Amino acid sequence: MHKILVSACLLGAPVRYDGRSQGLDNGLLARWQAEGRLLALCPEVAGGLPVPRAAAEIQADGRVLTINGLDLTSAFTAGAEAALALCRQQGIRLALLKEGSPSCGANRVYDGRFCGVSQAGAGVTSRLLRQHGVQVFAETQLEALATVLQALRSP
Ligand code: SF4
Repeated sequence: MHKILVSACLLGAPVRYDGRSQGLDNGLLARWQAEGRLLALCPEVAGGLPVPRAAAEIQADGRVLTINGLDLTSAFTAGAEAALALCRQQGIRLALLKEGSPSCGANRVYDGRFCGVSQAGAGVTSRLLRQHGVQVFAETQLEALATVLQALRSP
């Protein structure tokens, strides 16, 4: 069975930086969960960060800093490596990750100035997974993910 790595917060786990979840109420997701296809992971927690934690954004030089300048790059990298290890262990080729996050963002991330402006880009985990052949989708791309999943299941 093709499994899908999912941002834990999208499955209702209260692991966001602000201690909240971002649970998705969606029929496709519910079906995949009932099929036992979903594996939840929060890369930031896996990388050793607490809940709640300071918001962080990717800087132009690639480092991940909090608004106070604390460098969390190594924790974000460790979380991305944990996600990749899970994908390798489970043979996962698909991921559904939370848009906008400096770890999970699939297509957009905040611009590093902490002023609420996002730009095209991907989070640390999304980038690493893609470099190793995992297809990453945002929660706004569930239909596209379903299409790819269907194609993988076809003979
Ligand atoms: Fe959700 Fe990813 Fe942020 Fe964890 S790192 S709270 S899974 S968006």
